[in-house]
Amino acid sequence: MTVRHAGTGSTVGVAESTGRCPLCGGRSASVIERCGEVLTALCAGCDVAYLTPVPSLTELSDHYDEGYYADWITSQQRARRRLWRQRLALVRERRQAGDLLDIGCGDGSFVETAQASGFLCAGTELSEYAAERVRRRLSIPVMTGPVRAIEWPAASFDVVTMWHVLEHLTDPRGDLAIVQRLLRPGGLLFVAVPNRLSTVFNTVYRMIKGAPPSFYTPDERELHLFHFTPASLRRLLEERGFRVLSLGMDVEDADWRKRWLDRAARWWCQMTGINRSLTILAVAEKPHD
Ligand SMILES: [Zn+2]
Repeated sequence: MTVRHAGTGSTVGVAESTGRCPLCGGRSASVIERCGEVLTALCAGCDVAYLTPVPSLTELSDHYDEGYYADWITSQQRARRRLWRQRLALVRERRQAGDLLDIGCGDGSFVETAQASGFLCAGTELSEYAAERVRRRLSIPVMTGPVRAIEWPAASFDVVTMWHVLEHLTDPRGDLAIVQRLLRPGGLLFVAVPNRLSTVFNTVYRMIKGAPPSFYTPDERELHLFHFTPASLRRLLEERGFRVLSLGMDVEDADWRKRWLDRAARWWCQMTGINRSLTILAVAEKPHD
């Protein structure tokens, strides 16, 4: 295994152990970034980049405390409400009503929007602080804990949404199997993740900062354990038994600076069919048989 700085492709380090890829089980991976004891490895088998070792669930729960949500709740509320309305419109293009589960529902903005348009909503959230706020405000069931602890019966939902959640999970492969079980046949999964191949953003970032963005820093607000590409996300969904209906970009970012970069990338994606934006949005179906 060799160590390279993120995105440069140049070898700068020594051999390290990356273990097995948590998604495909492959043993062939190159280390593309190192931060203290934490490595970011790029799997040769499925093209996903992953942190190793993975932080414990306790560390992750501690990360999503009151401070994590407070800033969004106060400073970005208006921009984020617009974002949730746009995401709901994407859902309603394919399904107008039904039972909807939002995994990682955060401050509840999306379930609130979906509930107002007629969906019967439920949520999950790792943070008890955030979950309790949503329960009190919306009077809907919100389960606290990891996806693997979900107790709803099989085939309970018509729609499951995971808005920028999959990259935070310690076991996306196992958790998607649970999502499969929770969906009714013909049910839809909407999953949005950051795009590791966000060339437009990475180029601008490098011009401003003089170096590519890092995959991991210890005090980072957004702790991403996995970094997907459109191909690696499709592969994971199909391997878990989903039929991918569309694979494009998520709605525009709430941050106006990223929004302009996203518009340039959206134009490029429409011209070439190649997604080099900040985000990926996959819509997938649980087949009927
Ligand atoms: Zn892999």
